[in-house]
Amino acid sequence: MHFHIMTLFPEMVMNGLNTSIIGRAADKGLLSIEAINIRDYAFNKHQSVDDYPYGGGAGMLMQAEPVYQAYKAIEERINYEHKGDGGGCEEYMPKKPRVVYLSPQGDVFHQKMAEELAQEEDLILLCGHYEGIDERVLEEIVTDYVSIGDYVLTGGELPAMVMMDAIARLVPKVLNNDSSAELESFQGNLLEYPQYTRPAEFFGKKVPEVLLSGHHKNIEKWRREQSLIRTLERRADLLEKAELSKEDKEFLKKVEIERKKTE
Ligand code: SAM
Repeated sequence: MHFHIMTLFPEMVMNGLNTSIIGRAADKGLLSIEAINIRDYAFNKHQSVDDYPYGGGAGMLMQAEPVYQAYKAIEERINYEHKGDGGGCEEYMPKKPRVVYLSPQGDVFHQKMAEELAQEEDLILLCGHYEGIDERVLEEIVTDYVSIGDYVLTGGELPAMVMMDAIARLVPKVLNNDSSAELESFQGNLLEYPQYTRPAEFFGKKVPEVLLSGHHKNIEKWRREQSLIRTLERRADLLEKAELSKEDKEFLKKVEIERKKTE
């Protein structure tokens, strides 16, 4: 998978992602990350990329032209590389890559979205700054508007990094153990069960007996139940969309009855 980040602060993105699991995955060639400096496509000698908004109002706005030219350069390169991959046959159709504009006005990012975007071969992430970007270029190039939450940040770089981190770890082989992504919070709309590592006792608190038993079936059952309890306690809204078996539903009913008794 190839990430292309359009930004005014390329070092911020590259420094933030070139470490740890994502950095190692890039070193191994499992994915690639490039940050394209929109300022390189400025069309004036001062390399400025922002201007006052028409109609007045606070702040500056990123201009359409540099953003468009930066996008065209990426699109051309992606298509050139695909032709080289054997797309050079006569029926080869140029690809319109997916372009995500990070914006507080977008759909709020979630795990399912990350799973879906992880299927893309190329993903362009467009980071705004100042008061945002001239609407006309957004209409021209953007395919998806994504927010990371209902608050306003100074730029799209941190949201782009959040998205890339969540997507990259779903790319096959990026995590050492592929199944670990499958068992985590939000898979099946449940939160993950509590986890423990050595020592077996900490501040007088013992690791639940069942986890030391070596009895895989019982451990699995315990984890499922803990996952249900945790979701009920912390994110009950998820349970409405969760894939629950008959046993799960019965278990949750029992937990609710117990909870009511202690209220
Ligand atoms: N004037 C814009 C508005 O009210 O919708 C906000 C602009 S914000 C100060 C500057 C940039 O930060 C945006 O263009 C966007 O790229 C990014 N940004 C800010 N908050 C964000 C959020 N919650 N999710 C994703 N991107 C965000």
